[in-house]
Amino acid sequence: MKQSTVILLCLLCIVTGIALGYLIPDTMPVLDIHKKGASVLVLSCIDPRFIESLSFHLMHNKQVGHDYDLFTLAGASLGVQWNEKWKEAFFDHVRIAINIHNIKEIWCVDHLDCGMYKLSLEMESDLDSQIHAKYLLNLKQLLKAEFPELLFRGFVIETDGLLHELVQESVSFSKAAL
Ligand SMILES: [Zn+2]
Repeated sequence: MKQSTVILLCLLCIVTGIALGYLIPDTMPVLDIHKKGASVLVLSCIDPRFIESLSFHLMHNKQVGHDYDLFTLAGASLGVQWNEKWKEAFFDHVRIAINIHNIKEIWCVDHLDCGMYKLSLEMESDLDSQIHAKYLLNLKQLLKAEFPELLFRGFVIETDGLLHELVQESVSFSKAAL
């Protein structure tokens, strides 16, 4: 085949690909309107830089998949401990999630380089996951006092997008990768 023919075919493929991209809309996920309940309530921070990473980890987790409620609060674990109003709002949602969706676990997903952590704790940087481990453990204890039947797991997403588990139900500060 002549070189000019190969180039022409390549150009045709590129143009066709671009045209199809405009013509075929993104596929909408199928909505299961009859689905009842969720196994986990996930608490995360509002930071938009980590939304895709959080979504990726939750979607690919065999235990939770699409089966979770989501509550977002600036600072996640720290946010609940920031003031009584935020704690009340979160605890009210935990009660609703228990009553309506019959959740059995709460997962809190913090992230490093968190603006709320830096602001609240007056830190220049937020790259020490052990600081998050402390607040995740405090949150676990707060939740256990109010909702002893719920299991708790605490995670942090690092600045490279990797997720690490810092607080498990029975073992803390383990930093085991999910
Ligand atoms: Zn944050």
